[in-house]
Amino acid sequence: MMIATYGILPLVLAAWLGACFGSFSNVLIYRLPRNLSVVGPRSFCPSCTKTVAWYDNLPVFSWLLLRGRCRHCSAPFSVRYLLVELAGAACVLVGIARFGWTIEGLSASFFLLILLDIAIIDWQHMVIPHTLTVGGMIMGLVLSLFGNPGLPSALLGAAIGGGVILAVSYGYKLVRGVVGMGGGDVMLMAMVGVFLGPWGVPAVLFGGALFGTLYAVTAGRGRLAGEAKLPFGTFLAAAAVVVLVFGREILVWYLSGF
Ligand SMILES: [Zn+2]
Repeated sequence: MMIATYGILPLVLAAWLGACFGSFSNVLIYRLPRNLSVVGPRSFCPSCTKTVAWYDNLPVFSWLLLRGRCRHCSAPFSVRYLLVELAGAACVLVGIARFGWTIEGLSASFFLLILLDIAIIDWQHMVIPHTLTVGGMIMGLVLSLFGNPGLPSALLGAAIGGGVILAVSYGYKLVRGVVGMGGGDVMLMAMVGVFLGPWGVPAVLFGGALFGTLYAVTAGRGRLAGEAKLPFGTFLAAAAVVVLVFGREILVWYLSGF
């Protein structure tokens, strides 16, 4: 197992770093869709407005020690903060488990963390902040200089990913007279193309459409009533996770059918 190459301590540190990113994700998830600064002010309790001290802001541990409550006024903090921190740790561990201690492992961990933020924000607010997709693209392009899929594939993937959604969006607008998919979806698929290369784009589109359809015919009936839109970015992000982690196995299984 590549993941055990350096023993358990680096894994614990990597998981802790992931939890710290998850903690920052909590900030991004709350502040980006509300156009608030992500650098300041420091986190504060919404009930008593006291600033959260650094020792009460340690990922996972602080939430557990304070049992999800404010130290000063005991107002409850949502369990979602803890879950996102744990998910951040999981993103890094999955990236390393799949690709080892490599540039690809680093790239996958980073990609998963951004997908986590995008999936939650689009689900709650029906918006995909360009800060995340453009930031992700820049990071992905830089990492592609040092490992897979390589800069040419990353650039081609971005062009195809963004281009396909743009074309579909314009086509939909011509036919129906309304905008189907937004600029956020264009940028998301361009970012997916950077990390997964051009061959990942159709797989993620197919998976996103499949997840969205499954949701619509099962849990989403109430949400679909009226003109409510589906958070397509959330389904695309979920599909991107599957393609990143199981892409090779899926391709082998698919090709074995011929
Ligand atoms: Zn408080």
